[in-house]
Amino acid sequence: MPDPKAQYRGRFAPSPTGPLHLGSLIAAVASYLDARHHRGQWLLRMEDLDPPREEPGAAQRILDSLQQHGLVCDEPPLWQSRRLGAYAVILAQLEQDGQLFRCDCTRAMLGPDGACNGRCLQRPGQVSSPWAMRIKVPPDHTITFTDQVQGLQHSALGQELPDFVLRRKDGLDAYQLAVVVDDAEQGITHVVRGSDLLDSTARQIFLQQLLHYPTPHYCHLPVITGRDGKKLSKQNHAPALDDNRAPGNLRQALAFLCQPTPPRELASAAQILDYAIPHWDPGRIPPRLDIPAAADACH
Ligand code: GLU
Repeated sequence: MPDPKAQYRGRFAPSPTGPLHLGSLIAAVASYLDARHHRGQWLLRMEDLDPPREEPGAAQRILDSLQQHGLVCDEPPLWQSRRLGAYAVILAQLEQDGQLFRCDCTRAMLGPDGACNGRCLQRPGQVSSPWAMRIKVPPDHTITFTDQVQGLQHSALGQELPDFVLRRKDGLDAYQLAVVVDDAEQGITHVVRGSDLLDSTARQIFLQQLLHYPTPHYCHLPVITGRDGKKLSKQNHAPALDDNRAPGNLRQALAFLCQPTPPRELASAAQILDYAIPHWDPGRIPPRLDIPAAADACH
């Protein structure tokens, strides 16, 4: 459980696989407003852990774009590519504690959920290189938490995902490991992000418990979808935001989050954010909302 006395520290953690688009701006705006509304700090983390998926120049473009939208962070951004040593230490510690196992399964051998189901665990010494490092989840392990927007969440993690990858076969650290180590490193008390990551949260809480880290509050936002019903994302070629239209983009993000509409005369990004901070009300955010910025879907 988070320490109630800890000062609010929120974060936005983009992956530099492309420029900022409306979906990622919504997560940035919501995490920023929630932090500022609580007089807390707002941090940035560049999740540049997966070079094959990255787009050259995207990290800097994202930082510039955030600035153009008035979303200014309180500390220098944390770059995950500079944190590989820290992840290696934690991985070694978990391995020493007997929490990990090596898995050389090919994709075809894994279950539909990507689990090895202990196949490799039962044949020690015969795992061939390259291997992934997986964490063992006890079969009866369950995770329960209350999400601010999505409500009570219960996961039979040990049944649903008896093992998950912390270091990939290609030698890259997995998102689940890095995000947990870095949320703890940055002292994050509140995570506000898209509900496409809701499924990952049980895995992250499991790791936090194992490593004796505090668990932050979670708030998972509805995910913006395109006309095809798919999540708006860089993979789906969501259009990059036009930084010259920052005020309009912010208004669109606020409408999507069902927040009060800033008066028309507020023309700059800074003025719109200044209005939105005291008016921020996460209780107005619907758990799901399929139509981009559909005002009539707000309650
Ligand atoms: N890097 C992830 C993304 O861009 C977000 C991770 C997180 O907020 O935990 O989707």
